[in-house]
Amino acid sequence: MKRTLTVCPYCGTGCSFYLVSDGGRLVGVEPSTTHPVSRGGLCVKGWNAFAFVHHSDRLTTPLIRRNGTLTPASWDEAIGLVVDRLRSIQQRHGYDSVMFSSSAKATNEENYLLMKLARAVFATNNIDHCARLCHSSTVFGLAETFGSGAMTNSISCFDQTDLILVIGSNTTEQHPLIGTRILNAAQRGAKLIVADNRRIRLARHADLHLRHKNGSDVALINGMMHVIITEGLMDRLFIEQRTENYAALAANVADWTPERAAALTGLEADEIVAAARMFAAAGRAMIVYSMGITQHSHGVDNVRCCAALSLLTGNLGRPGTGVNPLRGQNNVQGGCDMGALPDVYSGYQKVADPLQRQKFARAWGVSTLPERAGLPLTHAMDAAASGLLRGMFIMGENPLLSDPDQAHARHALENLELLVVQDIFLSETAAMADVVLPAACYAEKEGTFTNTERRIQRVRKALDPPGEALADWEIICALAERAGYGGMRYSGPSQVMDEIASLTPIYGGIAYDRLDRHGLQWPCPGKSHSGTPILHMESFTRGLGRFSPASYRPPAEAVDDEYPFVLTTGRTYFHWHTGTMTRRTHLLDREERTAFVEIHPDDAGRLDVRDRDELLVASRRGEIRVAARLTAMVVPGVVFIPFHFAEGAANALTNNVLDPESAIPEFKVCAVRIRRVV
Ligand code: SF4
Repeated sequence: MKRTLTVCPYCGTGCSFYLVSDGGRLVGVEPSTTHPVSRGGLCVKGWNAFAFVHHSDRLTTPLIRRNGTLTPASWDEAIGLVVDRLRSIQQRHGYDSVMFSSSAKATNEENYLLMKLARAVFATNNIDHCARLCHSSTVFGLAETFGSGAMTNSISCFDQTDLILVIGSNTTEQHPLIGTRILNAAQRGAKLIVADNRRIRLARHADLHLRHKNGSDVALINGMMHVIITEGLMDRLFIEQRTENYAALAANVADWTPERAAALTGLEADEIVAAARMFAAAGRAMIVYSMGITQHSHGVDNVRCCAALSLLTGNLGRPGTGVNPLRGQNNVQGGCDMGALPDVYSGYQKVADPLQRQKFARAWGVSTLPERAGLPLTHAMDAAASGLLRGMFIMGENPLLSDPDQAHARHALENLELLVVQDIFLSETAAMADVVLPAACYAEKEGTFTNTERRIQRVRKALDPPGEALADWEIICALAERAGYGGMRYSGPSQVMDEIASLTPIYGGIAYDRLDRHGLQWPCPGKSHSGTPILHMESFTRGLGRFSPASYRPPAEAVDDEYPFVLTTGRTYFHWHTGTMTRRTHLLDREERTAFVEIHPDDAGRLDVRDRDELLVASRRGEIRVAARLTAMVVPGVVFIPFHFAEGAANALTNNVLDPESAIPEFKVCAVRIRRVV
């Protein structure tokens, strides 16, 4: 038996465990008892994170579409074809006619290399990744208010806090080990406010459960801030010494009386007053949010409000406080840090800055780098649908299931001249590709992931990949070599990290020999720096914290007589994203086999629906068939569908309207109608 210490490939909590292998096959996992995040625990996904690795569906050889069918090919042929056709598209339609989609499942080194490949080899800033779909509003909103778009505090802060406001995060299901920390905090006496329309598990333990209407977060928080200011409960010293633009915030919330906020949120005015007083009275209060806040057409405004509430009450820069966006996938923080974004290099250094362009061009050995920001992924789908974008290289993502408005996503992908997908399984998107490149999974390669609290951790190779599959970083380097670029010859991921550290100040002190045990939290600017568990302690990254007032905007699509239900989407405890790994894990698949819709018993009664009946759910964009699940988890008028299941794809229904600043889609609210299939 061999034990290999590594990091969980699922959520951004970043738990650590040993992969146990015997004779080249994984047989189980064993939690790391000393790890500061997981502390010897794992959730059900972590315990089963070995099971999909040997699944018979693993891709083992490159595939090229010939006469409409994907057929096996050699690496030489596949790599040559991808490079030649990308080059050919660029010669005919310009550099920006191709797009690279990176992955929050891949390592930091791989995200950095794909970003480098796009910019240095293919001369385009058209590089983005799935953070566009989950936390781009966080990156935008927190960068504006604090100067840094990351979680301000550490997971250990849950042990020190007096109050936790959980808003738009079903934490026990999506980040289970963090959910446990929250429950532990409540058990030792910390106050818990849960603001969520669904009666999530945390709500049962809350001092206050606010079931506000979907999409009314700005109204709720503006109402709370109104109460705090009018009752003089704000932290005047903190506001005076550490913030700017307070007058604008005060003016903005002056007419957000609890009664006005109540009318828009569907809450009682007293509930808003109670929440405000409770939050302001806590010595140390944390805000925890996730995609219930970010995935709206006003996602950035939601983030601005969370930031403002913390600034107003002085809950930043101390243990047990902070604004804490929980990052979804294992390495979505790292994907952003590595510059797999259309407007920044690694470390959020802007491509528009000529000095940064010069610095990266010199290091990468190219004469120039593109100046104009590239396309966000969500705009890229529109550009593909309209024929402006001709080629797409997708590493480890499945946009056919994960993007909003599936019919639109399918049309966009079908319209491409070239679709290349690099993945471990033949996902729904890979099945549409012209070329499929087989990749190693997390257990078969070296690298680093950065978890939600900015902790950079080693991922270690426990066994060889199946067949001819290669690590993503090896495939990217082979593409660069074939394109005639000699600047991507590395002895391994450790050398890639050395290059990242030399170019990226927040990762400046990171090297593999320093990450051996429990990693380091960025910013870590030098080799003797021990990392930064809490941001903004003395001053904010931008200097002063900025109040950014937000006006209320309703969701883009309202219910009406034709589409009378609000649909909201999310994940379940047993599955992960588009299910490529968890649905190939027997124990997880057994627990939650297929798509369902949660509907309130009162609504079900009106529609003559019984539990497990097959329902047809339709929006203005498409329709799906799913099983009814009658539950008071949802309020009457609202239904919930998880987005893991291809056979009942929630994103066939969702609305492709975007936040104007972050380009995140409004996954969390759209209007649907429901009828029983007879
Ligand atoms: Fe993995 Fe997240 Fe579960 Fe930890 S909480 S074991 S990181 S899925």
